[in-house]
Amino acid sequence: MYAYLPHTREYGIRVLDMSKPVDHQPIVIRPVPYCPFCGKEHPPSLRTEWEKRMHDRGLDPTIPRNPFSEPLPDGLDGEHWWRQEQQKSPNAVFGYPPLHTV
Ligand SMILES: [Zn+2]
Repeated sequence: MYAYLPHTREYGIRVLDMSKPVDHQPIVIRPVPYCPFCGKEHPPSLRTEWEKRMHDRGLDPTIPRNPFSEPLPDGLDGEHWWRQEQQKSPNAVFGYPPLHTV
């Protein structure tokens, strides 16, 4: 199963715990550098930047989360935080738009 993590802008193959129902698992992926559909390189992951922002707010970024069901402050549960950075500095690392949402 292919997945996109909007909060870290990562694409990859979903890693599942077969002992639990899929709907109750946080989305954990093994990132892939290229799109399996068109072969284009994915934009760089924003995990390091995201983790820094989580630490700054006293939140533990190592806890696997389901970004669709666990709200986080300042748009950190989705694309909002890096879309804002993108508008401030479109040529920085944030400036690459995601290729797909799956
Ligand atoms: Zn593609």
